[in-house]
Amino acid sequence: MNIATSAPADPAVLAARQREVAAALGAVLPPHCVLSALEDTRPYECDGLAAYRQLPMIVTLPESEAQVVAILNVCRQLKVPIVPRGAGTGLSGGAMPIVDGVVLSTARLNQIVRLDPYSRTAVVQPGVRNLAISDAAAQHALYYAPDPSSQIACTIGGNVAENSGGVHCLKYGLTVHNVLRVRMVTIDGDVLELGGEALDAPGLDLLAVFVGSEGMLGIVTEVTVKLIPKPATARVIMASFDQVGAGCNAVADLIAAGIIPAGLEMMDQTSSRMVEPFVKAGYDTEAAAILLCEADGTAEEVEEDIARMSAVLQQAGASAIAVSQSEAERMRFWSGRKNAFPAAGRISPDYYCMDGTIPRKRLAEVLAGIAAMEIKHGLRCANVFHAGDGNLHPLILFNANAPGEFDRAEAFGAEILALCVAVGGTITGEHGVGIEKIASMCVQFAPAELAAFHAVKRAFDPARLLNPDKAIPTLNRCAEFGKMRVTGGLMPFAHLPRF
Ligand SMILES: Cc1cc2nc3c(=O)[nH]c(=O)nc-3n(C[C@H](O)[C@H](O)[C@H](O)COP(=O)(O)OP(=O)(O)OC[C@H]3O[C@@H](n4cnc5c(N)ncnc54)[C@H](O)[C@@H]3O)c2cc1C
Repeated sequence: MNIATSAPADPAVLAARQREVAAALGAVLPPHCVLSALEDTRPYECDGLAAYRQLPMIVTLPESEAQVVAILNVCRQLKVPIVPRGAGTGLSGGAMPIVDGVVLSTARLNQIVRLDPYSRTAVVQPGVRNLAISDAAAQHALYYAPDPSSQIACTIGGNVAENSGGVHCLKYGLTVHNVLRVRMVTIDGDVLELGGEALDAPGLDLLAVFVGSEGMLGIVTEVTVKLIPKPATARVIMASFDQVGAGCNAVADLIAAGIIPAGLEMMDQTSSRMVEPFVKAGYDTEAAAILLCEADGTAEEVEEDIARMSAVLQQAGASAIAVSQSEAERMRFWSGRKNAFPAAGRISPDYYCMDGTIPRKRLAEVLAGIAAMEIKHGLRCANVFHAGDGNLHPLILFNANAPGEFDRAEAFGAEILALCVAVGGTITGEHGVGIEKIASMCVQFAPAELAAFHAVKRAFDPARLLNPDKAIPTLNRCAEFGKMRVTGGLMPFAHLPRF
């Protein structure tokens, strides 16, 4: 599927524009940093949301912050939209290009600038992979806690832009809790530092505003992250449940008992059966659902937590409990969970991953609702998710080549998100809004709230050049989706962008 933008439709006009912008960029960047040939730009046409594709006009690969500044100056002067891109693993289309826009890839900004075991911090360029930070810190028995399942590939710049989470974020916090300082370039070409090396920084908390802003406020050029000591030991429980609802209630019971597991993840039977032949993690594929609950700390702490968690899980109706007996077995239990998305490809040509967050106590009800939607939309759904955070990841399985199936998958996904909002949750936990959930933003937020978001965007980027048309819907879009009241032919907030 190609998403049309408000670009020149005429190929000749587009080609002339490409020559003009490439020449201007070529004047400030070495030739190997500017790509405009079709075979060079094709790899950038989508991110992890591969159902939506758009070839970019030009791709830039800056090798320094000064080059990032130069790119932004050229684009601002020529009024060219810019789409920042890390590894392109995003699942909401945040890095999807714009037909007359420039992709700014951070692939070559991939240096660990400084790693300081005394202050337990690392200063890294935006294109450094998430796992590469922990790998580098391992020699000091330290690591970077947020661990998206894509951590082998995704970059810290992308993590900051999406406020990414992972299996261990329940105990150790999301990206926003683990980043101390972000250095970024504004659309005006100014270099700003948000936050600082200390635990708090003076002034408004612009770091919190920036983290999760999906490339719409500036380009990240350097990040200072916290490193924490690797726990002395860790063990994980795999608990089986005959009923999905009982497994969901066990999640709430664990937290209510005052236990914060290092990880608390759930997989339903569709997920465990899809993963097991692929990873051979040792999962109970007869169970309706399994919970993975990790304890970490000293050997004594872990032993005590495992005993407490096992008691709560048994009380909640677990039909079987297995505890990892070695580090290798613990890693195997997690590798099944971390490879769940790729494993979906074994049982379905395509999948559509949703990302809603709900109050933990509503998990059973929402999973029952999703089961009913499977019947209604005639599509299967595998549920594998960060249960402790109430962060659902329904994987809707479909075949893009079967007529109508993608539309049904999208309708199914939108209905799941609407249910998340209805039970007091939100339409995204960690994958961002991008282009994927832009209509659901109209469901979640009132016009006045959207107006406030537009005001923040305008304060950073008045000309709307940085990742425009992502994450915050224009009021016209909400009206088109039937989620905006138009009175007497007039919509509220006349000063806001319409398209
Ligand atoms: C198999 C799989 C598993 C996943 N598991 C998880 C998970 O457990 N938890 C989770 O949170 N996510 C997960 N994701 C989603 C994805 O990996 C994250 O959103 C990740 O943070 C994206 O990083 P990236 O480098 O690939 O960014 P990209 O996809 O390239 O970009 C993501 C967004 O960040 C912006 N951006 C990128 N770099 C910069 C920069 N330097 N400055 C400003 N903006 C920038 C882009 O414009 C875009 O809006 C998963 C994805 C896959 C494919």
